[in-house]
Amino acid sequence: MGSSALKNFRIMKLLLDDYYRKINYLRLSVTDRCNLRCRYCMPEEGVESIKHRDLLTYEEIRKVIEVFARNGISKIRLTGGEPLVRKGVVDLIKGIARIEGVTDLSLTTNGVLLKEYAGALAEAGLRRINVSLDTLQPDRFAYITRRDRFKEVWAGIEEALRHRLSPVKVNVVVMKGFNDDEIRDFARLSLTYPLHIRFIEFMPLGKGSDWDGKEIIPPSQIMEEIREIGELIPIGPQANDGPAKRYYIKGSKGEIGFISPISSHFCEQCNRLRLTPDGKIRTCLFSDAEIDLKGVLRTSGDGDDEKVEEVLYRALQAKPEGHRIGDRRFKKCQRGMHAIGG
Ligand code: SAM
Ligand code: SF4
Repeated sequence: MGSSALKNFRIMKLLLDDYYRKINYLRLSVTDRCNLRCRYCMPEEGVESIKHRDLLTYEEIRKVIEVFARNGISKIRLTGGEPLVRKGVVDLIKGIARIEGVTDLSLTTNGVLLKEYAGALAEAGLRRINVSLDTLQPDRFAYITRRDRFKEVWAGIEEALRHRLSPVKVNVVVMKGFNDDEIRDFARLSLTYPLHIRFIEFMPLGKGSDWDGKEIIPPSQIMEEIREIGELIPIGPQANDGPAKRYYIKGSKGEIGFISPISSHFCEQCNRLRLTPDGKIRTCLFSDAEIDLKGVLRTSGDGDDEKVEEVLYRALQAKPEGHRIGDRRFKKCQRGMHAIGG
């Protein structure tokens, strides 16, 4: 091997948890604040925001990612709350994109500010993006998000496509009685746009939301509806695939995916950790167990990377084998999705 090839040759560390799952993915929530108020995620009023001094600073976030990436975390997703409402997030993305070992950098947004930011995000090094949109009907959008911003979100999706953020995925939380009559409309979008439509199951999260499981529509039912438009052709699993089961309709520009953490849970393949805006690591979306990273960052001296590494390895050990939804012992977690990072 020549010297330049040698220089580029890296032995990536393999992070395994106690169940031999390879952990390589960090979902990082940069803020709990949001410019929408989706009924299943946040209450309209009375939300106590995390105090500014308790938010991880961008410097702290960069340090965490540097240490984690050296240890084998290669995929980073920024989320929130709404990540685009935090000032300076484009510079944060630029910084993360340059961190050695980060090979996949993405963002989940509600799209309200995307028209304004898509170009800057692409320039900063973001490659792909997920936009959440549960309905194609402006009045329904205003109802479910409690804000009349449908037009901005759609314009944001078009702008993201124009800037070749690829793929642009559209996350649709399917809820019985709310948007289940729009399943085919969403699927049809994949015929005309290179969009990846992801149908996501509603999940029991946050003390504000009632949960009796009745909102859930199983993927088999969604697929049945889509087959009225055309045959769903499976796309074989690929290296960077997450938990989505992927398909396309013949002749379409985009694709269709299903993420069903409740009806077909994928805990045995779970590869992720989460970092909350106030610096807590969560090892499972559905568990309130948290490991404090912010405290470690703020008490250990500059350059004390070992302490950050220790927290990472503690998190690996603490990662549970699976969630207990459906079990009598299951208790809904207290933080809402906006404060965890979906
Ligand atoms: N604000 C951004 C957005 O909406 O894309 C990022 C954060 S949001 C919490 C991330 C994702 O979580 C969104 O796609 C949202 O629809 C989803 N989500 C929130 N609460 C949920 C729930 N109870 N069940 C399923 N998905 C949920
Ligand atoms: Fe905000 Fe996203 Fe939660 Fe909606 S789902 S309230 S956009 S954080």
